[in-house]
Amino acid sequence: MTTIMKAKTAIAALEEQLQKDAAQVKATIGREPNLTVLLVGDDPASAIYVRNKQKRAEQLGVDSQTLHLPADTTQAALLAKVHELNADDKVDGILVQLPVPDQIDDDAVINAIDPSKDVDGFTLQTTGRLWTVPKNSQETVGPCTPLGIIKLLDFYGIDIAGKNAVIVGRSNIVGKPMAAMLLNRGATVTIAHSQTENLHEVMRRADILVAATGRRHMVTAADVKPGATVIDVGMNRFIDENGKKRLVGDVDFDAVSKIAGAITPVPGGVGPMTVNLLMAQTIRAAAAKISQ
Ligand code: NDP
Repeated sequence: MTTIMKAKTAIAALEEQLQKDAAQVKATIGREPNLTVLLVGDDPASAIYVRNKQKRAEQLGVDSQTLHLPADTTQAALLAKVHELNADDKVDGILVQLPVPDQIDDDAVINAIDPSKDVDGFTLQTTGRLWTVPKNSQETVGPCTPLGIIKLLDFYGIDIAGKNAVIVGRSNIVGKPMAAMLLNRGATVTIAHSQTENLHEVMRRADILVAATGRRHMVTAADVKPGATVIDVGMNRFIDENGKKRLVGDVDFDAVSKIAGAITPVPGGVGPMTVNLLMAQTIRAAAAKISQ
């Protein structure tokens, strides 16, 4: 029987702890953990993501505020805003919603965030810490999508240590940090990408296969070892032959779910974990202040 690894089930188990931790922060410092989101311009998808974060924050007892800046905001003005938030003791986590307009260098802005407030996990300092954590320790830093995937694997009792993990995709926000986390947990890790030779063979060696390419259904049943755990990060939107809007992952779910040992659906698998881990990182950042 294939296990369908659903975010909803994992989150239900996580939620109570997050609410408790947020309430503990409030009881100690007299305010909720604070997440401040910087949204520049009017990208409609970004507006939806930011609204979803706000909603989830409210449910968990996190105070989330969004500072909406005009599309013509200069890099200097955005950097000044980040510095202001770095200095504000009432702000625990800072997130710059990407993409930012072309006149802004997103790397420069992200790296201006105080590492102790880097709840999105994208600064160079966080990246360095992620790759240098003591081996086999619990993850405390890093981007929220791979953090969420580790939570899902743990929740569903999937062994990581000693397993062959193959990640398809080498982006800084998913593929590379995922590799760091699985390596830290004792997996033997391969990162594949568009230049990988014999990709299908490489994927078939995986006990844990993470697909993060943004290519609809690039992983077929023939690419998966029977019994493997398959994590589908991809979010591919398209209009189907009946004119209906659809969202599918990188994995051909119907075929692969027949042979995998465990698999995440799209939607409802990796996606909702990300926002919950963002809240967890915000609460953690606020709690870290208390213990200082
Ligand atoms: P990027 O476009 O930054 O990276 C895609 C990676 O996939 C690249 O490393 C690329 O290789 C590799 N790739 C592309 N095509 C192939 C192929 N045919 N064979 C092998 N490798 C290939 O994407 P992201 O990492 O940002 O996102 C990946 C997917 O995950 C997207 O669908 C995105 O929407 C989704 N996503 C979902 C999140 C969630 O919360 N659920 C969060 C973040 C992303 P190369 O480097 O050689 O070009």
